[in-house]
Amino acid sequence: MDIYNELKNFFGYDTFKKGQEELIQRILAGGDVLGIMPTGGGKSLCYQLPAVLLDGVTIVISPLISLMKDQVDGLNEMGIEATCINSTLQQDELMERIREIKAKRYKIIFAAPERLNTGGFKDIIRELKVSLVGIDEAHCISQWGHDFRPSYLEIPKFINGLQNRPVVAAFTATATKEIIIEIKRLLGLKQPLEITTGFDRPNLLYRVVKEGNKLNFLMNYLNNNFQRESGIIYCATRKTVEGLVTKLQEKGFSVRGYHGGMEADLRQRNQEDFMFNKTQIIVATNAFGMGIDKPDVRFVIHYNMPKNMEAYYQEAGRGGRDGEKSHCILMYSPSDVVKQKLIMENEHSNPERQALQYKNLQYLIDFCHTNDCLRNKILAYFGEEIAKDHCDSCSNCLDKSEMIDITVEAQKVLSCIYRIHQRYGINVVIQVLRGSKNKKVMEWGLDRVSTYSIMKNYSEKAIREIIMTLASRGYIHITTDKFPVLKLTAECRGVLQGEVKVYHKKELMETTASQSKVQK
Ligand code: ADP
Repeated sequence: MDIYNELKNFFGYDTFKKGQEELIQRILAGGDVLGIMPTGGGKSLCYQLPAVLLDGVTIVISPLISLMKDQVDGLNEMGIEATCINSTLQQDELMERIREIKAKRYKIIFAAPERLNTGGFKDIIRELKVSLVGIDEAHCISQWGHDFRPSYLEIPKFINGLQNRPVVAAFTATATKEIIIEIKRLLGLKQPLEITTGFDRPNLLYRVVKEGNKLNFLMNYLNNNFQRESGIIYCATRKTVEGLVTKLQEKGFSVRGYHGGMEADLRQRNQEDFMFNKTQIIVATNAFGMGIDKPDVRFVIHYNMPKNMEAYYQEAGRGGRDGEKSHCILMYSPSDVVKQKLIMENEHSNPERQALQYKNLQYLIDFCHTNDCLRNKILAYFGEEIAKDHCDSCSNCLDKSEMIDITVEAQKVLSCIYRIHQRYGINVVIQVLRGSKNKKVMEWGLDRVSTYSIMKNYSEKAIREIIMTLASRGYIHITTDKFPVLKLTAECRGVLQGEVKVYHKKELMETTASQSKVQK
């Protein structure tokens, strides 16, 4: 089978994108696949092209009605018979489609997962020869992921109910090791060919910002960058969305809000206004975005930090789908960490899951405090091998600000953690170092340890910055309990013994240390 001919004839492309050819060949040879490709990587072609070539029908399971519709329209334009079954159809429309499916009119049928095992659909599909089941956004099946959809758990039952087991092809843009294992297990993939094409999005410029006055920063940014181009601002809560929309509108920005608590009509209208460039900016909670296929989003700003790297990567990844340069700015503040922890606590998950949530959150906190390449830190999270030390396009790589030696400060912090027997959290460590007369500190006798008050000239913020930096470099381990405790790691020995030096951005130390008491 000459797949290049079909690639050209139907889709108009001359070459495959990375990973596509191998995945398609394997599907055509009758084997299951798991394609892990970034947004814009070309996942759809991996099931669309086999669908054309295989006899029988291909069912594609997708969580997003809007995406289904786009794909169906696109395929029909190319002359490939496709349709979709989802909850937006009226009863008579549904009956008509089912009749046509029965008459074997379609090569590809897109279905929402909650439709799969409903009477009408299941019975008709069972009578057809299904050659391939494609599963888009496969990570939705995993409870560990950030987009868990219970209806995805219906998929195995659906596949098992078919006359013959079809080839199963699963695709996702986000998959940590735990999630990959779960996708394979829950979907029952049979010795799948697993291809990861890499997570790097070279056109996205990552930047972490630690600004006391976030609103000021934001206005400044918006006034000086991409003034007429689209952008998304993510906030942690509906209330923050509402507040920010009002403030930005007052300043004359073209902006709308989007969150789960809004009336469906208004939310839909706001989304469309954004999609069709009637509004420049959308301020949203994480309810906005999955499947938002707007190619020209030039900036994605996180006004609050999300809960983990996966969510961040996914949300930031909505920028620059067209391959043009786009900014991804993450605004860090310690109070957002507290907020995220509260949300996690309120979920009352089992202890194992909660520990994992804290660990994943800590990775993102470390991301905000590292001086290393941000792109590499993202790629490392997904287990990708790092080709070079610098990307030369993230805020850390571009930052030419002077680094100063903070080894002495680091030693003081580490010694303090040791002296108080690695039993306390960050706030107590800071209080001890600053010589606080806090009641608890006195009661516990921490004023008698030798490191009490040895950093009394440093602001709380400066010490916090040092501690978080040390954690991001692996010298301190922050436990994943409800009340996280600072522990020393084996790696910190080098710092304590003066064999390893620690450097940090001068600018950050000077703006955060009181009385500019930064020792060289
Ligand atoms: P994903 O679902 O992985 O985010 P899509 O399937 O939407 O990505 O593809 C992203 C873009 O790449 C689309 O505009 C698509 O038309 C294009 N594309 C896919 N495969 C190829 C190819 N082989 N050559 C050129 N462009 C391609």
